[in-house]
Amino acid sequence: RAKEQGRNSFQYFTDELNLAAHEWLSIENGLHQALERNELFLLYQPQIDLKSRRLIGVEALIRWRHPERGLIMPDKFIPIAEQSGLIVNLGRWCLDTACRQIRAWDSENFYVPRVAVNISARHVRNSRISEDVCAALAAHGVEPGRIGIEITEHTLLENVDTISHTLNDMHRRGTYLALDDFGTGYSSLGYLKLLPVDELKIDRSFIRGVAERDDDIAIVKAVIALGKTLGKKVLAEGVENFEQAGVLEALGCDAIQGYLVAKPLSSVEVKSWTAPPLPFEEPGQAGTVIDT
Ligand code: C2E
Ligand code: MG
Ligand code: MG
Ligand code: MG
Repeated sequence: RAKEQGRNSFQYFTDELNLAAHEWLSIENGLHQALERNELFLLYQPQIDLKSRRLIGVEALIRWRHPERGLIMPDKFIPIAEQSGLIVNLGRWCLDTACRQIRAWDSENFYVPRVAVNISARHVRNSRISEDVCAALAAHGVEPGRIGIEITEHTLLENVDTISHTLNDMHRRGTYLALDDFGTGYSSLGYLKLLPVDELKIDRSFIRGVAERDDDIAIVKAVIALGKTLGKKVLAEGVENFEQAGVLEALGCDAIQGYLVAKPLSSVEVKSWTAPPLPFEEPGQAGTVIDT
């Protein structure tokens, strides 16, 4: 009986694996066509300066409108694109689309200071990301400072020399560089001294509890202090309510992004976006208790 059960669970396990493998292959094949058939699109999530409440930029977030499966989120297909190497084509597509969009907004007299594009480790590591950025900028006549690159900390894990060379190259030409999901990776803080990073994006997981939990407050405080000392901007991601924004403002955070400001929007929706009301603190609530 035990043997029987063992076999059943093994059978179940392999079925699961087959399903996963099949799913994986189907997404991988679909992705090749998605690029050609225009099934990918970008949404843009506003980022604002905490003091002035003004729009400082938007982050481009990719979506896939699959002909049969409907809308697919990046968490589902980015890892597959990374494995297959297609992520490099995808990154180029994002850069090109972002630059085209900047020009389109410009021509509609709508000024977005900067569009941040997520670039995966693999693209930074083994390819000519710097040339790809230049090509996209040149193709649309966009100034380098209007494109930002977001890379996650784990990008820095391997071969820091090569990566540092690549990042320096882009930075020298004026492209803005942000370290995404900061605090969740394993990079040595010493790298921050060597790399031309303009901005630290504090990961959402620390922002969630920033209005209640002492440990989250301590971490966020430390990142802001680190950023200030090293002359880097600090942006908090995943800000969802007034309490969090109030605390971040009291702690001296430079900028925020999150559902409180706006969810990711279409290029048309961005144009009718308006900043959330001032001040962030609801009367007599947050912003008074934080001892900085
Ligand atoms: P990320 O770069 O850290 O992007 C932030 C994610 O948090 C986005 O999810 C965004 O929609 C979500 N978010 C923003 N504000 C809030 C909030 O207030 N609360 C909560 N709960 N979530 C919020 P999304 O769009 O599903 O993207 C997930 C991840 O996929 C991104 O994390 C990024 O790592 C990756 N990704 C997205 N677009 C691209 C792309 O074009 N290229 C690459 N390589 N990766 C991408
Ligand atoms: Mg990002
Ligand atoms: Mg992030
Ligand atoms: Mg994140």
